[in-house]
Amino acid sequence: MANALRFQVVGEAFKKKPLEVEQPTERPADYFGKRVFNREKMYKYLPKEVYQKMVDVIDNGAQLDRTIANAVAAGMKQWASENGVTHYTHWFQPLTEGTAEKHDSFIEHDGKGGMIEEFSGKLLVQQEPDASSFPSGGIRSTFEARGYSAWDPTSPVFIIDDTLCIPTVFISYSGEALDYKAPLLRALHAVNVAATEVCHYFDPAVKKVTSNLGWEQEYFLVDEGLYAARPDLLLTGRTLMGHDSAKNQQMDDHYFGSIPERVAAFMRELEIEALELGIPVKTRHNEVAPNQFEVAPIFEETNLAVDHNMLLMSLMKRVARKHGFRALLHEKPFAGINGSGKHNNWSLSTDTGVLLHAPGKTPEQNLRFAVFIVETLMGVWKHNGLLKASIMSATNAHRLGANEAPPAIISSFLGKQLTELLDNIEKADKEDLFRIDGKQGMKLDITEIPELLIDNTDRNRTSPFAFTGNRFEFRAVGSEANCASAMITLNAAVAEALVNFKARVDKRITEIADQYKENSGHTAKFHAIIDVLREDIRACKPIRFDGNGYSDEWKEEAAKRGLDVETSCPVIFERYLDASSIEMFSSLGVMTKKELEARNEVKWETYTKKIQIEARVLGDLSMNHIIPVATRYQSQLLNNVENMRTTFAPEKANKLSARNLKIIEEIATRTETIESLVEELVSARKVANKIEDEHLKAIAYHDTVAPYFDKIRRQIDKLELIVDDACWPLPKYRELLFIR
Ligand code: ADP
Ligand code: MG
Repeated sequence: MANALRFQVVGEAFKKKPLEVEQPTERPADYFGKRVFNREKMYKYLPKEVYQKMVDVIDNGAQLDRTIANAVAAGMKQWASENGVTHYTHWFQPLTEGTAEKHDSFIEHDGKGGMIEEFSGKLLVQQEPDASSFPSGGIRSTFEARGYSAWDPTSPVFIIDDTLCIPTVFISYSGEALDYKAPLLRALHAVNVAATEVCHYFDPAVKKVTSNLGWEQEYFLVDEGLYAARPDLLLTGRTLMGHDSAKNQQMDDHYFGSIPERVAAFMRELEIEALELGIPVKTRHNEVAPNQFEVAPIFEETNLAVDHNMLLMSLMKRVARKHGFRALLHEKPFAGINGSGKHNNWSLSTDTGVLLHAPGKTPEQNLRFAVFIVETLMGVWKHNGLLKASIMSATNAHRLGANEAPPAIISSFLGKQLTELLDNIEKADKEDLFRIDGKQGMKLDITEIPELLIDNTDRNRTSPFAFTGNRFEFRAVGSEANCASAMITLNAAVAEALVNFKARVDKRITEIADQYKENSGHTAKFHAIIDVLREDIRACKPIRFDGNGYSDEWKEEAAKRGLDVETSCPVIFERYLDASSIEMFSSLGVMTKKELEARNEVKWETYTKKIQIEARVLGDLSMNHIIPVATRYQSQLLNNVENMRTTFAPEKANKLSARNLKIIEEIATRTETIESLVEELVSARKVANKIEDEHLKAIAYHDTVAPYFDKIRRQIDKLELIVDDACWPLPKYRELLFIR
């Protein structure tokens, strides 16, 4: 009784050929942004003064003047029609991961019994999607299901198939954010204002500080036939069972290997589509685990980068299907091998250059560099628990702290050069740091930092927040996550640190001004900055850690340092409601207490639902896939034993059946164990389901339901080893991971 389906899908997957991808005749530079209403198209399709206003809105954050909306909509509509577009949609990012859209066609009644195509400024700027089925955490109960989506003109409109997609925020009628984009825009505004003010200590000409994000997206590809034969992958995004493949990533041969042809064809098509949509994808390579890959663009302004990541994730899924694959974005689709993350490379830059780049040219620039590094660390230190909450999810929890990707403790790796620089500023006799040259000049004797050396810093792969030359790399972000969550918290935390820094520096300047009168206040300012900087270098020391983040000693040490070492996902979410978090988000205008509370309801509810679905799938698969198959195989063995007994003398028959008898027994105990564990799992779920409070329910799911997963899986994986391969119904790890 061979398992027909499994062998069939394996056979088919094995024979698949790479899809021919039609190569565009133009160069990438020519089709880049082809499907985006970017500046070039605005210039072409909008009246001059409307174009100027749009540029002012995009570059300088000027208010969008509603009177130009009609003209913009008309231009967009013309461009879209020329590209075969018939529908438009407000494209937004609800609190479920992913994006939402509702398509409307351009057609309207013309009042004379016919139809005309119309797209007014009003439709561009604001819509009222029926928001009742998006999670809102009780901000808006379903009967007053009115939220509205509002155009974000800083992220350009683009075309997917026959639809014009308009990036929007999604807000309730009472003004609360129901999405990721609204608080992100507020956090980016906060960091811009705070950082610009601090920049003015060094250069009054700075107009604006931009937050940048370059994400590196990891993912797995699995043949779609094999995927379809795995109900767990299909329904939960991860395998809930499956014994290790004899060979997995131990040879490290996948990382260095060439990209398999079928995958290369997928990547080529993905890149063409991404470039047409203005996503500047640049890098592609194999990752460490078999069938794991990465794609990364050139970094962009954070809001745009977030949109582009959301867009790329949905593109990946579409293009993968065309190539007979499924793209797995789950953080941990397979046990025992690496999971997937999404490194968030983050930096700040002014209209005149990158702020986190060690310039090593003038003392002022070096000091400014040190200030931005240290204040970033201050934000990360103060809100380390909250930052962990910002990247935590039911799915990412499998990856964090699991001895591979970043540990579940946020710390920052600075490398030797930068550590020396900060130590130097902290410890040097303060007067030694300055040599006053003449009246207004100063010589800040911070060792000049050679750019090259910093770029070459030894890379600490275990650090969740590592300095890598001109940016910090936040590595704990999950592959499936909306980067906005991490970016809202990080940018807000840095904004708060900078506001705080500036307040203390200003106060200090007035305190010491008298001492530096003859230097027209200039030196007082730098002395004040150094004073506060040294205070902060000392304060945020607990967050600096260059050692091995996976070690047990670090867990102990981190707890001693007062860092957040909590590992339970639903408990970690509580950090959003800490007084310090509410204070930070509300004082910066990023999120109110009410919004934070509502969003946490959604987080807890989502967590519970995910574990609930996994528990059901695991229960079903155990009872209707695994136990029946194991029992059938057991009966086969029993028949064999019986036949032995009728053929041979009892003693000889027993001897010849020894192995089968052992397996028969093992199957009996393991299936029995599975059955009783599944029963316990179901009762634990029933108890948890009775809890009304979402917070406590999520904790119950974490503490009493989730622990069964590994216990049940262990039994199933052992069965996989002893049951005849020909009967095993589910594609095995060696098939899922090595066929491409
Ligand atoms: P790796 O970390 O694997 O060496 P890369 O050096 O290619 O990868 O960079 C990873 C990402 O970091 C890319 O998206 C890149 O554009 C981005 N990046 C580079 N410099 C900055 C910066 N100053 N700010 C933000 N992102 C940056
Ligand atoms: Mg990287």
